[in-house]
Amino acid sequence: MTRMLIIGPPGSGKGTQAERISERLGVVAISTGDIFRANVKGETPLGLEAKQYMDNGDFVPDSVTNKMVRDRLSESDVVNGFLLDGYPRTTAQVDYLDEILATGDEKLDVVLQLTADDEELVHRLLGRAKETGRSDDNEAVIRHRLDLYHEQTEAVVAKYAERGILTQVDGIGAIDEVTDRVMQAIKAAQAA
Ligand code: AMP
Repeated sequence: MTRMLIIGPPGSGKGTQAERISERLGVVAISTGDIFRANVKGETPLGLEAKQYMDNGDFVPDSVTNKMVRDRLSESDVVNGFLLDGYPRTTAQVDYLDEILATGDEKLDVVLQLTADDEELVHRLLGRAKETGRSDDNEAVIRHRLDLYHEQTEAVVAKYAERGILTQVDGIGAIDEVTDRVMQAIKAAQAA
C-alpha cells in the first residue's frame, strides 16, 4: 500500500513521472492540474471558475481545490493507495489533507520532491509551450508560477521534511534516467 505525493516546480516533469510511478506501483495518480484542465475543456462550472486563475498562473482558491480533492479521495479506486500530483501546494492544503486522511486513520508514507533549477525549468516550459500550446506556458506566467512555488510550495516541502517522509530526486536528465532515480528513492523510502 502506497500513499504518496509527488511535488516539484512547474516543468520538473512531475506529471510524466507520476504516470510512470502509478503504472509501476499499481496506484491511481491524481493530478489536480489534470482534473482542472479536463473541467476547463468540458466547460463545467468548476472549469469556468478555475480557468481565470490557471491562465494567470495563480493557484485556484482552496475553497474550490480542497473540496475537489476531498471528493476525489472518497472514490473507491483509492483504497489500494494513491499518488497525489500537484496537491498540496500550500501549507493550508497540507492541513486540509491531513484532516481528510485522519478521518480514515490514514497518512502519507512518502513525499517525493523533484528538483531542478529555475532557468532550466523556464527553458523546458517555453519548449513545452510550443509543443502543446498550454495557455499557462508563456514566460511571464511561467515566472509567476515559479515564484509561487518558491513562496508557498517550498514551505509544504519543509513540513514534510520535518515529518521525516521527504525524499528528493534530481529531476534533470533523460526521462528514463529520472524514472530510475525516482523508483529507487521510493523503494529506499519505503524500506526506511
Ligand atoms: P499543474 O498541472 O500541476 O502545473 O497545475 C496547473 C494549474 O492548476 C496551476 O497553475 C494552478 O492554477 C492549478 N492547480 C493545480 N493544483 C493546484 C492546487 N493544489 N492548488 C491550487 N491550484 C492548483
